[in-house]
Amino acid sequence: MEKRKLVIIGSGPAGFTAAIYAARANLNPMLFEGFMSGPSGGQLMTTTEVENYPGFPEGILGPELMIAFRNQAERFGTKILTEDVEWVDLSKRPFVVKGSNTQVQAESIIIATGATAKRLDIEGAGDGEFWQKGVTACAVCDGAAPIFRNKPLFVIGGGDSAVEESVFLTKYASRVYLVHRRDQLRASKIMAERALKHPKIEILWNSAIEKISGDQIVKKVLVKNLVTGAAEEREAGGVFFAIGHQPNTGFLKGQLKTNETGYVLVRPGTTYTSVEGVFAAGDVQDPTYRQAVTAAGSGCMAALDSERWLSEMGID
Ligand code: NAP
Repeated sequence: MEKRKLVIIGSGPAGFTAAIYAARANLNPMLFEGFMSGPSGGQLMTTTEVENYPGFPEGILGPELMIAFRNQAERFGTKILTEDVEWVDLSKRPFVVKGSNTQVQAESIIIATGATAKRLDIEGAGDGEFWQKGVTACAVCDGAAPIFRNKPLFVIGGGDSAVEESVFLTKYASRVYLVHRRDQLRASKIMAERALKHPKIEILWNSAIEKISGDQIVKKVLVKNLVTGAAEEREAGGVFFAIGHQPNTGFLKGQLKTNETGYVLVRPGTTYTSVEGVFAAGDVQDPTYRQAVTAAGSGCMAALDSERWLSEMGID
C-alpha cells in the first residue's frame, strides 16, 4: 500500500490551502477532493459572486475562485484524487485512508471536509426549482445579489445565524421577515434583542414556509401559522435557510472527539485534534466563523502544524 507523509481530506478553501502549503514544504501531499459527496471546491461551488474574499476588489465567482485554489495546489505537486473517502483507521500509525478506489497509508492527516448547510424540503426550494434562484442557505455569501435588492426577504430559523443573517439582509431588503417555528428565539439574548428591536425586521412566530413560487426567480411564499393553521401568501424576493449546519464527519465513525453537534474539537489556537497526527481545518471544526477566508487561514495552520509535528516525529 502506498504511504504518504500527509493525506488531506476535503477540497474547499481549507483543504486546498493546506495542500498549497504542504506541497511547497515538500510533504508530497495527496488530497481526496470527493466525488459523490459534493463538488470539488466545497460550498463556494454553489454560490455566485464572492465579494468578501480579499484580493478581488471586483469580486470573483465562487467556482472560479475554487478552480484557482485547485490549480495552485496542483502546481506545487499535490496529488489530487477525485474520490470520496469511505473510512479512515486512526487507531494506529501510520493511519489508513480508504477512498472509493484507492487505499493509502498516512503518517498524518488533515481533515477539511467542511459542513453542509441544512436545507428544508419545502415545495419550490429544491434543485431545479428555486434553489439558487432566490433560495439560498447563506445570506452573507448571496445577500448582496441584485435580485434581493429592495425586496421583502424571508429568513428561516431562530438561532444566532438566523438573527445575524436577518440583520445583514436589512442592508438590502425592503423588509426582512424572520420565520421561526416556535414562539421564542434560540439566539443569544444580545442577538435576539437586535432582531426584536430592528425597525426593518418582523418576526413571524410559530410559522413555517409551506411553498415557494415565482417565475425565473422567487416571487411569493406561502407562510403558515403552526398554531392557528392559517396560511397567507406573501410577496417575496428571497428565502434564506439559517437552520444550522451539519459538519461532514460521518466517515470518521466517532474516532475523533467532536462537540455535541459533530464539529471536530481542536486544541484552541491550533488545528490539533484528539488524535496525535490528525489535524482539522475549515468549517468541519468551526461552528462560528465559517468563511472562505477563515477556512483558508486554518488550512494554512493545519499544514504548518502537520509539517512541524512530522518533523518532531523524525518523519522528514
Ligand atoms: P442553531 O443555534 O442550531 O439554530 C438553528 C435554528 O434553526 C433554531 O432556531 C431551530 O429551531 C431552527 N431549525 C432547526 N431545524 C429546523 C427545521 N427543520 N425547521 C424549522 N426551523 C428549524 O444554529 P445556528 O443559528 O446556525 O448557530 C450555530 C452555532 O453557531 C450556535 O452555537 C451559535 O451560537 C453560533 N453562532 C454564533 C454567532 C455569533 O455569535 N455571532 C453567529 C452565528 C452562529 P428551534 O429553536 O425550534 O430548535
